[in-house]
Amino acid sequence: MSDGAFCHYCRRARCECPDYLRKIATEFRAGLLADTPSDLMCYVVTLPLSGLFRFMGYEAELIEGEVDLAGDDPGSHIAGHYWIRIGNQIIDPTADQFNRYGLRMPPVYIGKLPKEYRALVPEGQNRGSMNQARRRVKAP
Ligand SMILES: [Zn+2]
Repeated sequence: MSDGAFCHYCRRARCECPDYLRKIATEFRAGLLADTPSDLMCYVVTLPLSGLFRFMGYEAELIEGEVDLAGDDPGSHIAGHYWIRIGNQIIDPTADQFNRYGLRMPPVYIGKLPKEYRALVPEGQNRGSMNQARRRVKAP
C-alpha cells in the first residue's frame, strides 16, 4: 500500500475505524456518482471501491447479496445488491437506495450486516472477479 494511506483519525495504516472507512467510501461515491441517485448503482460503485480498498492494503471483499425490502411480509420483495466487507464490518456506499422501500439507511453505511441483508456466497469466497460481473444479479 502507499505510505500515504494512514487513517486520519488514529494514524494507523489499514485501520478499520468506521469514520475512516466512511470518509473513503463517501468521497469515492461522490466522485463517481456526483448528484446521480444511488439507485441501481451498487455494483458500479462497489466494484471499483473494493479495488481501491485492496490497493490500500485492506482485505476487502465484494459481496453479492440480497436485501429483503418487505418488512411486514419477509421474502416477498427481495432485491439483488452488492456491498463490501472488511473484517467484521460491511461498507455499503449506496445504502440509501432502499429508503424508498422503508429501510432507513444513510447514504454510506458502515457497520454490522443489517438484518435485511444476506450474502449469497459464503464469506471469503467472493472475489469481485469478472466472472462475478457476468453473473451479477439484477439490481432493484
Ligand atoms: Zn483509524
